[in-house]
Amino acid sequence: MSYNAFELSGKIAIVTGCNTGLGQGMAMALASAGCHVAGVNRSAADATRERIEALGGRFIDIQADLSSTAPIADIVAQTLEAFGRIDILVNNAGIIRREDALEFSEEDWDAVIDTNLKTTFFLAQAVARQFIAQGDGGKIVNIASLLSFQGGIRVPSYTASKSGVMGLTKLLANEWAKHGINVNAIAPGYMETNNTEALRNDPQRSAEILGRIPAGRWGAPEDLAGPVVFLASSASDYINGHTLAVDGGWLAR
Ligand code: NAP
Repeated sequence: MSYNAFELSGKIAIVTGCNTGLGQGMAMALASAGCHVAGVNRSAADATRERIEALGGRFIDIQADLSSTAPIADIVAQTLEAFGRIDILVNNAGIIRREDALEFSEEDWDAVIDTNLKTTFFLAQAVARQFIAQGDGGKIVNIASLLSFQGGIRVPSYTASKSGVMGLTKLLANEWAKHGINVNAIAPGYMETNNTEALRNDPQRSAEILGRIPAGRWGAPEDLAGPVVFLASSASDYINGHTLAVDGGWLAR
């Protein structure tokens, strides 16, 4: 029996924050399934380009700072100029700032909320308008966090932003399902990337975290490959507004 609902041949995906970490893993997974990718980062994404081209995909490198909404129209325009359409958006770019809530600055609040929540919404809005103009739906995958479900500690703007991403995912799914647009999210667990370097370098926090993960290991970018291809493909056509935890069982404890 053949089952090709995960096939993404020729689909066009915008992936933000794909020069490293989870975004790079997801961009490569989508390319492995057949996508061409428009990558959006502040810095060049040469390694991602090389890996995607080695898989036979095309990659355009859009350099933009997602801490403001200013580049959004240009990101959509550059993608359309290169590929003519958009099928998938992975809203992955994100930052974290750590400080006690009593000391937390307004600058650290605004920086995280602007990148993780405000730009995520307005990029989804711009891409959804394009999906509706194209007339045949689309897929949006937002990157949430365990801190969409839990409070965390010393990361107030991050928790607020990722809780917001999960709520927004449900709202957008409700409004856009009628256009054939699926909006869902992935909540990665504790993954080995730059984002968690400070935690992994703290022996006490690192041991506490590892001891609580039923799978007994930190996650890797490759762990998001199956989930992102699933949520970007027709295999998930009747899934709307869901946040899928990919956490080695953390939330099951
Ligand atoms: P990472 O290794 O720090 O990578 C972050 C990515 O976001 C980079 O590609 C970075 O590109 C991009 N980015 C950040 N600010 C940007 C800006 N202003 N404009 C454009 N691009 C920007 O982080 P990661 O761990 O892969 O995280 C990816 C996503 O997963 C984030 O949303 C994060 O919150 C989420 N997440 C991570 C974990 C984890 O354990 N690692 C867990 C849950 C959720 P530049 O280098 O060009 O800035």
